[in-house]
Amino acid sequence: MVNGSSFQIEQQCPQCGAPIILDEADRILSCQFCRTRVYLATNDHFRFYMPPKAGLPDDIFFIPYWRLRGLSYTLMGKNVTYKYFDSNFLCYDFPQLPYSLGLRPQALKLKFVGSDNKAGKFIAASSATAKTFSDNFQKRAQNPYRREILIGETASMIYTPVYFANGRLYDAILKKPLTPRTDDGEIEDRLDAAPSEPWHVAFVPLLCPHCGADLPGEKDALIVFCSNCHSAWNPSDKFFSRVNFFTWREKGDNIVYLPFWQMKLKVNGLRLETYADLIHAANLPKAPAEIWTRTPFYFYAPAFKINPALFLRWCRQLTATPPETDLAVDFPVQNVYPVTLPLSEALESALITLSSLMTERQLLDVSSSLEFTPEDCSLVLHPFAFKGKELIHTKLGFSMDMAALNLGGYL
Ligand SMILES: [Zn+2]
Ligand SMILES: [Zn+2]
Repeated sequence: MVNGSSFQIEQQCPQCGAPIILDEADRILSCQFCRTRVYLATNDHFRFYMPPKAGLPDDIFFIPYWRLRGLSYTLMGKNVTYKYFDSNFLCYDFPQLPYSLGLRPQALKLKFVGSDNKAGKFIAASSATAKTFSDNFQKRAQNPYRREILIGETASMIYTPVYFANGRLYDAILKKPLTPRTDDGEIEDRLDAAPSEPWHVAFVPLLCPHCGADLPGEKDALIVFCSNCHSAWNPSDKFFSRVNFFTWREKGDNIVYLPFWQMKLKVNGLRLETYADLIHAANLPKAPAEIWTRTPFYFYAPAFKINPALFLRWCRQLTATPPETDLAVDFPVQNVYPVTLPLSEALESALITLSSLMTERQLLDVSSSLEFTPEDCSLVLHPFAFKGKELIHTKLGFSMDMAALNLGGYL
């Protein structure tokens, strides 16, 4: 969603050592020299560092900063506004250090923490996490009718190098003092004593855990599909976890399948078990029918990054549409557009979607008490056909502006 502000990472091929430049959002490393393809995995988030200038003392310390990027939505009744955010802030309890790195990470090629044992000492971040940040973010909006929702794209840690010379703390990129003080010995003692960060990125071979076939995938794909045994996997935490997915089948060529998250959520404060409940809660212009009382209600959200206006439109229009019941569980699906928005972020859209479907008056009654708990989530692949500058949903007729997607290999 945010272009132009991502940074690049320099990493050697784990097989042949060839230099490879990755984008911040890349999850698959492909080496064009030895054809190695591995998934970049971590238990939590990625950690990168900015390399220090050459010719400095050996005792380099690396200071952690959180980097968060994504969209922040503000909900006032039915009114949704959004803005991009892209920020980083110090993640170590020491007020003398600069609070932010500014735009610097974009100007340098970063490296994965752990890729060079001799780089220096990486200071373990203090307890502040992306979660605390987003909790604080929520608390800022105490007005019950105003809700702030973060749909993040990137949460990572960036380390900046410092060193000490003549008792003063220096920035190891600019080679300039970092504080106005003349004695930074106290900071040096603390950094010496601080626990270090043992993290390194894991390279996971892209082989299907079920059948052993190679797993294809775009470089920024979060979920990989096995075209041999028709399974889907999330390798992000080093262990491949199976992802349930269903396909809304379409015949013919030139079909591209776009992935959407289908989310069964328990909603506290509002009855939303069935599609009939939604018709009632949102006053949808639909004749009540017995079948809707037996049709489960799901929230939907695009499973790919797309501009916020379109994202909200697709959340709304798919959630308001009764779910398709004839979905295939085992289908040799081809041309799947990559999943680039994780489920955890898609879940954040539920309140916005619901608010957009209900009237102001209905919302007033319930919105302050609504809570969502995920119960059962899967991917649903929806069929689209090319038509001029648009992709048309072959079953529902909704159009998707192709310029909003980076269709690369699909045209
Ligand atoms: Zn290689
Ligand atoms: Zn397989």
